Amino acid sequence: MSNITVCARFRPLSSKEKRDHGANICIQSVDSESFIIKDEKDEGFTFSFDKVFYEKSKQADVYEFLVLPIVRDSLNAINGTIIAYGQTGAGKTYSMEGLNILESDEEKKGILPRVVDGLFACIRSSDESTKYSIKLSMVEIYMEKVRDLFDLSKDNIQIKESKTQGILLSGATEISLLDPSEALQSLSSGIANRAVGETQMNMASSRSHCLYMFTVHQESTIEKRVKFGKLVLVDLAGSEKVEKTGAEGRILEEAKTINKSLSALGNVINALTRGSLAKANHIPYRDSKLTRILQDSLGGSSRTALLCCCSPSPSNVSESLSSLRFGARAKHIKTSPFVKGDEEKSSKKSEAPSATRDHASYEKI
Ligand code: ADP
Ligand code: MG
Repeated sequence: MSNITVCARFRPLSSKEKRDHGANICIQSVDSESFIIKDEKDEGFTFSFDKVFYEKSKQADVYEFLVLPIVRDSLNAINGTIIAYGQTGAGKTYSMEGLNILESDEEKKGILPRVVDGLFACIRSSDESTKYSIKLSMVEIYMEKVRDLFDLSKDNIQIKESKTQGILLSGATEISLLDPSEALQSLSSGIANRAVGETQMNMASSRSHCLYMFTVHQESTIEKRVKFGKLVLVDLAGSEKVEKTGAEGRILEEAKTINKSLSALGNVINALTRGSLAKANHIPYRDSKLTRILQDSLGGSSRTALLCCCSPSPSNVSESLSSLRFGARAKHIKTSPFVKGDEEKSSKKSEAPSATRDHASYEKI
């Protein structure tokens, strides 16, 4: 049984997409777990995930289904990772941060401010025999270099492994979070630093991975034991393909590096979901900085959530299909070509291929 939850999220059409294609969308909902997507040739494919969040879904729905169980587990010293995947503009940052990390509109708040609220709420309701403390680090991975977003002078953080603490980012700033509003201010300063770094290096944030790492320490006054759980949120670099012709120099190098690390992530998740292999020490964590950092919060007893963010527009269908296939492969979810005339059949719950989930094979479509 895998500990990975895979969901798809479609954002609303952008104004540019509406201008170019009117109100047309390339997806057709089947139910809350399945949909049909039609490619450029009008060929349809059915995908099933643990949950599908359509355009009208709320930030709270995503948080409650995908994230809250992992937040609760982190307070029980179980590590967890929440990953947003998708092409640039698909809604990864909107899902993670909201429009603004300091958003006051409750409905629009993204996953991060909700995680902060969730962690502190769980701590407040815990019994007094356990003392909690939360620490936050924020790093960015660009061209396989790890940079501290709380101290931009630390631009080549090394990854180390300790027997007691697992994977460590050597020398990375850790901020102790005392209350939710302070936590949001810290997140906000890391996000602002990311923008400063972007300008310094003349690169776009969509070309780097951003990792928000919470460590929850708990000390039991009765058992006299200290435990900790790590909760890592990852806003990945855009997964879009860069045209091989045309791209050169740094753009091409960036694209290759991103592609390599996203493939490494896919391979790790894929290997983990094949239960037996996971025990066999064959997980290729060392193939990228991203997977190496996530080594102890991805796999083993830890929990993983993958949110595949997509545009619903026909103009982006090829990138959306690629993101959805990544998600499907990650969980060995079988996808099936959609046969015209099957609308009625596939709208019946019993026909939705949720039973194919966790199958060890991925049917190429
Ligand atoms: P990414 O981080 O994947 O590059 P963004 O999160 O920045 O993409 O989203 C691109 C644009 O779409 C932003 O203007 C964002 O506000 C908007 N957007 C994304 N997802 C949603 C959503 N679920 N609801 C409303 N607007 C969204
Ligand atoms: Mg973004």
